[in-house]
Amino acid sequence: MNYGLKDKVVVISGGTSGIGLATARLAVADGARVFLIGRSEENGLSALGILDADPEMVKFIQADVSTIDGCQSAAEAVNKAAGRVDILVNSAGVYREQWRELVTEDEYQEIMDINVKGTLFLCQVMLPLMTEHGSTIINIASDAGLEGNYGCPVYCASKGAVVALTRALALDYAPRIRVNCVCPGDVATPLVEKQLAAGDYTLEEMAEPYPIGRIGQPEEIAHVICSLASPFNSYMTGSIVPVDGGLTAK
Ligand code: NAD
Repeated sequence: MNYGLKDKVVVISGGTSGIGLATARLAVADGARVFLIGRSEENGLSALGILDADPEMVKFIQADVSTIDGCQSAAEAVNKAAGRVDILVNSAGVYREQWRELVTEDEYQEIMDINVKGTLFLCQVMLPLMTEHGSTIINIASDAGLEGNYGCPVYCASKGAVVALTRALALDYAPRIRVNCVCPGDVATPLVEKQLAAGDYTLEEMAEPYPIGRIGQPEEIAHVICSLASPFNSYMTGSIVPVDGGLTAK
């Protein structure tokens, strides 16, 4: 696969698992220099082991993107190591189910801090490093940011905010920096494994509403992310791209 990412500096928040890790794998295979941002050193080392790449080409940066300090320290680490950012993928996120009547302020804050504040401030600190014309940002929202999902109103609100943020940044930074957003449906990652482990529904029940007849695989989202990041995709900005097996086509 040639996405034209050779020697590009790619920063992926939430890059140590799921969609972020699958994106890292494709970017590394394409010759990119990749920085994985995550909170846990253990997960970071495990991801580096899975990628099994030249240590000069893939590095882990331990940082919590839900705080401005965390975003800033990640940007400083990337700047020191590479001096610029060509592609930023905001994949860090959390999913929580909770009925509206039961949501606490702490739960609200956690979801918004990671999904919205983390995305916004990581963009803010990385944008000064995006010095090359054609640099690009890919935010990961969700089908839940496009339409209502049952039982997770704060998650829906957070992903709707990521969709709106993407459009706003695309306007502010055109034509120099393209900003797009991917909206996955359910994807077989640790995030979904936790949902299934809770036992509220089975994999078959989760897959039932999907016209394609199954949930997605992380690589299927990663291919779209890398395609959006590709310099070949130079006319696309402000786009919100569902990758959901037809779920939101209904
Ligand atoms: P995942 O849990 O495998 O990945 C999320 C990553 O974000 C994890 O590595 C986690 O450690 C990291 N993270 C969380 N909070 C962080 C913080 N404060 N600082 C740094 N890193 C942090 O799940 P995933 O499915 O790969 O999710 C990736 C993105 O895709 C998320 O934004 C998620 O909301 C979105 N998404 C996932 C699905 C799905 O079904 N898997 C569907 C729609 C949208």
